[in-house]
Amino acid sequence: NLKEEILGVNVTALPIETLLEDIDRRIENKDKGRIVAINPEKIMMAQKDPELSKLLNDSAYQIPDGVGVSIASKLLGGSIRWRITGVGMMENLLQRASEKQYRVFFYGAKEETVVKAIGKIKQLHPEIQVAGYLNGYEKDDSVIIDRINEANADIVFVALGSPRQELFIERNMDKLSPAIYQGVGGSFDVFSG
Ligand code: UDP
Repeated sequence: NLKEEILGVNVTALPIETLLEDIDRRIENKDKGRIVAINPEKIMMAQKDPELSKLLNDSAYQIPDGVGVSIASKLLGGSIRWRITGVGMMENLLQRASEKQYRVFFYGAKEETVVKAIGKIKQLHPEIQVAGYLNGYEKDDSVIIDRINEANADIVFVALGSPRQELFIERNMDKLSPAIYQGVGGSFDVFSG
């Protein structure tokens, strides 16, 4: 999958439809991968933070979240002329998941919030396959990992807020089963509200 580099930070240069096809291929192959959202603020932070820089660059997909990224791409002779927000990516994945019967796991937010969010998502996507869910207040990583792994999901949304969710995915990547992992911040609150 095609990347562009902006001040040392990789950005995936695939328009949404091609990006979804690339994710399909990864799911079919039972590959593991994570999606991170890139905005100008994160690019600036990464200049002084080698760990953040590595976390971003080691991800399978870096979506251009923010017009600043497409402007930078244009200035650097790149091809990115679009924007994909974190919640927009999540909506696209939910749509794809219901078309392809992918199993989706929801991890994060308060119990009532995640339950309500799943209810709303089922209304929007009646075909969605919910692999399972877990609220974001369990402290023991090994309990969380077991819950996620036993659900046998294709896509896992992690809504713990930033950077908690990125750090959770990063530190447990080796133990988590193959799936597409996306940190989605306060998105469950948005769906449930
Ligand atoms: N959250 C969680 N576990 C925590 C802390 C936060 O599940 O230990 C959830 C919180 O309930 C909310 C989401 O993370 O649904 C986003 O939290 P916050 O607004 O603090 O993050 P931000 O949107 O500012 O990144």
